[in-house]
Amino acid sequence: MSRPASRKLLAAWLREVGLDYVPVPSRPAGESLEDIRKELIGCRGCALCTGRSTIVFGVGNPRARLMFVGEGPGAEEDRQGEPFVGAAGKRLDLWIARIGLSRGDVYIANIVKCRPPGNRPPLPDEAKACLGYLMRQIRAIRPEVLCTLGATALNHLLGVEERITRVRGQWRELDGIPVLPTYHPAFILRNAAREHEVFGDFEAIASRLSLPPRK
Ligand code: URA
Repeated sequence: MSRPASRKLLAAWLREVGLDYVPVPSRPAGESLEDIRKELIGCRGCALCTGRSTIVFGVGNPRARLMFVGEGPGAEEDRQGEPFVGAAGKRLDLWIARIGLSRGDVYIANIVKCRPPGNRPPLPDEAKACLGYLMRQIRAIRPEVLCTLGATALNHLLGVEERITRVRGQWRELDGIPVLPTYHPAFILRNAAREHEVFGDFEAIASRLSLPPRK
């Protein structure tokens, strides 16, 4: 038999030789982080684009079970194009290490991908302009746990207006994914006495992910 000319003919031909025809989708069902990153190149979705050196997309394992969401890039992140590389980032790395993971195991992103001037929190319009990209990153990764760092990340991501001191450590949900709000590492650098609360939150995350207990 010559080469089948169409799907219909192919199906008939396969049936003839005793096989069922199951069409394979030409594109995978979900988009990849790379698809989203490409779309962001040159983004002019809000005024933050005028002050950025580079877009700080996110970093880590595209199949991460645990994903962190911070506020927005600072000066060092803007220079290097990677989230949480300054002093706050070093503290975050220590928290991640406490539960036996490393930066390469998790995924880290921010509410906004361009540096707000003077390290101020992103304005509602700026957060709104960027949130669609973050949601798509979350859907591409589908982490088992999301951890928001600080009030800005929690409030913009969940569309709430909470005080972080009141709600940290209390599980929330987004798109079927459990969300645990904790303090921002920069806040802990100024308020070291509260770090034990973060340690408790990370233990809760480790237990939710059934990570092996640490000595
Ligand atoms: N603070 C954040 O919230 N995000 C960063 O990437 C760096 C500092």
